[in-house]
Amino acid sequence: MIRYCCDRCQREIVASEARFVIRISVQAGDESATLTEEDMDEDNLHLISETLKSLESQDAECVEASRPVFLRFDLCGECRARFLQEPLGASSADQLDFSEN
Ligand SMILES: [Zn+2]
Repeated sequence: MIRYCCDRCQREIVASEARFVIRISVQAGDESATLTEEDMDEDNLHLISETLKSLESQDAECVEASRPVFLRFDLCGECRARFLQEPLGASSADQLDFSEN
C-alpha cells in the first residue's frame, strides 16, 4: 500500500483521511502556452519561483528557464486549508502577523 506524507508539514497522511494534490506547471508565457490565466496567477508564480530556487540549487544546468516544469505536492487537509489561505507561504510581503481565529 502506498504511503503518503504531506509535503508541507511532513506528516504521514493515513488512508482514512483526505489527501489533496497540488499540481503546478511552469512554462514560458508565449503563444504555445496552454495554461489558463488562472494557472498563471501571479501568486502561483511566486511559489514556483521559490520552488525553482531549490531546484536550481540541486542541479542548475538541468533546469532551463524556458523548459516547462511540472510540480506535484501532496497535502493533508489542514495544510490544504492553510495553502489556500496563503498560497505564497511566508513571503517578505506577508510579514504581518495574522492571528488565527
Ligand atoms: Zn500537512
